[in-house]
Amino acid sequence: MYCTNCGHQRADADLTCTQCGARVRTFPPPPVIPNYLVQSILVTLCCCLPAGIVAIVFSAQVNSKLAAGDVAGAKAASQNAKTWAWVAFGVGVAIALVKVVLVAIAAMHNG
Ligand SMILES: [Zn+2]
Repeated sequence: MYCTNCGHQRADADLTCTQCGARVRTFPPPPVIPNYLVQSILVTLCCCLPAGIVAIVFSAQVNSKLAAGDVAGAKAASQNAKTWAWVAFGVGVAIALVKVVLVAIAAMHNG
């Protein structure tokens, strides 16, 4: 590695340059942003197809935006994916409950 200030060659572990004393620039690791892709696929298959697909689209955007350096955009996409995954889950549960109620009503009328 080379000093970004004076160009002097330095050891990778050094935090300051031995030539000019400048603090070596360290790059923070990229933030870990959950993309909720697994949850999105699960709710798409099990709960609600339309909302699940929206969640998958946002999930896919998280990694591509992160790769492009758009951390704010990746966070927003992550939040949207989470929201839509929950919407799909909620709709799926609601549909399941309606089915249970309808089956119970049908059973009462037949019995
Ligand atoms: Zn230097």
